[in-house]
Amino acid sequence: MKLVTGDMLWTNLTKIPHQYPYLSEDIVCDVVIVGGGITGALAAYYLTQAGIQTVLVDKNIIGYGSTRASTSIIQYEIDTDLVGLSAMVGEDDAVTCFKLCEKAVYDLQEVVNTLDDDCDFALQDCLYYTHNPSETKKIQKEYNKRKEHGFDVSFLDKNSASDKFSFPIEAGIYSTTGAARVDPYRLTQALISYSVQHGLKVYENTEVDKITPQDSNVYLETANSFNISANHVVIAAGYESLPYFQQKIADMYRTFTIVTEPIKTFDGWHKKCIIRDNEDPYTYLRTTGDNRIIIGGEDELIGSWSSKMSNLSQEDAASTSKYQRLEEKLIRYFPNIEGIKTAFKFSGLFGITHDGLPYIGEAAHMPRCYFSLGYGSNGILYAVLGGQLIKELCLDNHPKELSLFRFDR
Ligand SMILES: Cc1cc2nc3c(=O)[nH]c(=O)nc-3n(C[C@H](O)[C@H](O)[C@H](O)COP(=O)(O)OP(=O)(O)OC[C@H]3O[C@@H](n4cnc5c(N)ncnc54)[C@H](O)[C@@H]3O)c2cc1C
Repeated sequence: MKLVTGDMLWTNLTKIPHQYPYLSEDIVCDVVIVGGGITGALAAYYLTQAGIQTVLVDKNIIGYGSTRASTSIIQYEIDTDLVGLSAMVGEDDAVTCFKLCEKAVYDLQEVVNTLDDDCDFALQDCLYYTHNPSETKKIQKEYNKRKEHGFDVSFLDKNSASDKFSFPIEAGIYSTTGAARVDPYRLTQALISYSVQHGLKVYENTEVDKITPQDSNVYLETANSFNISANHVVIAAGYESLPYFQQKIADMYRTFTIVTEPIKTFDGWHKKCIIRDNEDPYTYLRTTGDNRIIIGGEDELIGSWSSKMSNLSQEDAASTSKYQRLEEKLIRYFPNIEGIKTAFKFSGLFGITHDGLPYIGEAAHMPRCYFSLGYGSNGILYAVLGGQLIKELCLDNHPKELSLFRFDR
């Protein structure tokens, strides 16, 4: 499974700061985390903070899976909007999910504050909008629902939006809390390094081949034939966790991203807020601390693992046309911004669940194994929630929120 393709922004900006050894002996620990992306790193942070003896293994190197392709937009909004999610899971649960994501933004801010690196974290405003007149009522309804439940939102109509943005907006929801940006690679590295200082043991180039749950323990076998015996396993292997399930738990897409060189001024972009439209597939935009623009979207369902879209190369005409469309869109969004020049182009595989919510917790067929699968565009906030909830499971607590993210929902 080649998760990412192209020239990734984050790992170009930051070279590998630290290398970890591979496992070369049998070990025993309380919890072993499989996967050293942002999800495993956050789980490691919460577990070591709770004083739990934790080991993390990655078959490759830290942060070089999907994490390094992430656009890393952090926002309380879920792919499925509040009205849509209410229809699927009931209004109370839908509101709880939105509120959990909102809280997770500030929890992440607190986590970053404890690290040696600011990870380019910054709180941001965010805009969810439509340019389609026939969608205005839908956005208004979504706004009303969010307002009713206490989210800090204002409604933008065509006129009020034109003062703030240079692209056509028929209706929009502007949120002044619950969103942020971060550099996901620096965050992953900083979390691991912090956790190592607090007792975490890390092994790179250590692939887990087999997981065998037993009554009181779980045994893991690595590709180099070393054994790990643990009380619990946290499976944070991203989209490579899919083979642990016989049934389909996510639809896989390829999503495309371009990143510009740093820009001098942002005419027509109110407060450089995070932007997402309500098209299918949607387009999303954010900026970085060094004033680059990131624009992503153009998602395509990959079909089977052997399909062309699964294995698409950068040179393929389908990739070229996707990047070109993003470049053209960017100019249409911001005709007044001068000097837009593409610096990086990449694409990545991306899983979405039927309701846009993650899977977190134990799967019936693998006792003592806790999955943290933040599938959907809120993967990073879901990783925060996964870390928090799995820490509780490892402490033998059973938070009620876990039922929102169970496998058999
Ligand atoms: C292009 C793109 C844009 C995105 N944009 C956003 C966004 O704006 N906001 C957001 O919140 N989320 C976004 N996401 C989703 C988010 O990036 C992912 O949810 C997140 O990066 C997944 O992190 P992870 O740690 O679970 O997986 P990964 O980063 O893939 O890490 C999993 C790790 O597990 C290791 N591994 C796998 N199998 C084994 C094994 N058998 N043994 C040992 N190690 C193993 C891998 O080597 C890998 O390092 C985006 C994703 C993509 C691809």
